[in-house]
Amino acid sequence: MIALPDLAILIAAAGRGRRAGEGVPKQYRDLAGEPMLARTLACFIRALPGSLLLPVVHRDDLALFQTVLGRIGTDFAQQLSPPVFGGATRQESVRCGLEALSNRLPPPEIVLIHDAARPFVSRALIARAIRAAQDHGAAVPGVALTDTIKEIDPDGSIAKTLPRSRLRAIQTPQAFRFDLILAAHRQAAAAGIYDLTDDAAVAEFAGHRTHVFEGEDSNVKITIHEDLASAEHKLQDALTDIRTGQGYDVHAFEAGDHIWLGGVRIGHDRGLAGHSDADVLSHAITDAVLGALADGDIGSHFPPTDPQWRGAPSRIFLDAAAAKLRARGGVLAHIDATVVCERPKIGPYREAIRQSIAKIVDVCIDRVAVKATTSERLGFTGREEGIAAFAIATIRLPR
Ligand code: MG
Repeated sequence: MIALPDLAILIAAAGRGRRAGEGVPKQYRDLAGEPMLARTLACFIRALPGSLLLPVVHRDDLALFQTVLGRIGTDFAQQLSPPVFGGATRQESVRCGLEALSNRLPPPEIVLIHDAARPFVSRALIARAIRAAQDHGAAVPGVALTDTIKEIDPDGSIAKTLPRSRLRAIQTPQAFRFDLILAAHRQAAAAGIYDLTDDAAVAEFAGHRTHVFEGEDSNVKITIHEDLASAEHKLQDALTDIRTGQGYDVHAFEAGDHIWLGGVRIGHDRGLAGHSDADVLSHAITDAVLGALADGDIGSHFPPTDPQWRGAPSRIFLDAAAAKLRARGGVLAHIDATVVCERPKIGPYREAIRQSIAKIVDVCIDRVAVKATTSERLGFTGREEGIAAFAIATIRLPR
């Protein structure tokens, strides 16, 4: 973890950019099953747990933003400030965010300003940005160019060749002393300038020298459909840390007329006893996912002593485990589960249960296996005293 000054991160996500395809703005488009903005936010949540994250969004995108919040999971979403609405240009949007931050007491010492369309920002780059802002007051990441850059005349012919060694392609996060960049933005707006394309240009306008630190080639900005496709491949290729987790759970029968398995209500001549809805299968799968993440178990995240979980539908627990996985940048590769009981017969419900689980954890149904067996009338399951469930979850995490 990085030692933090009083820091805020402003995520510029108000753009209307639709070059990446039809429909929703690109920052809300799916990137390997996750909205791009959710991935970008998760990069900062992972690198700087507990720091202040302020998204600046377009007022027409509130519903899309709510979907992103749902994908991040409640634990992590708590780290986000309520979004601020942006203006007509990127520069205006950033200023709206800075003004909102200036109302905090005390305002932050350092602010990082990052584009939502750069979902591959690394922990190391974020650390460099913070350090550079502390050392220089205004600093931006830049990478050396591999292409030769030409300046052209209006007729399309080359006017001159620029010396490549002195050129840098500038990225985000751009990092500033908060008071410096706020004043620079106010100064530009007061002068009627609204369309500077990055915050370094705003600092430059206000007469500040801006330091350029080492950016990263992998910190690409996604602007066109082809970028989205190649970013998908890159993400899938990067998920090479493959882990498995196992889960096991038992619930005893009690008086009742139905049980829950994998979020499906099954009529039966008894019910299952438990603090929540006693969905033994969902509990085993939740523990398998948490096990694969090495992140405690269902009891540590949802203590049975906590009254808020009384009678709770267990899809909440499973959904939360899946959100934890997504917040770590991972995907669920497979679930394999077995229910052990004499009755009720699970076979007729198997497809409904698979479908329900797949929907809760948001994967294709071909990644969810549900099997059932009896224990040949042996043991507690054989005596029909309760139901047991086993589950294995395989997950893929970034290295
Ligand atoms: Mg249980």
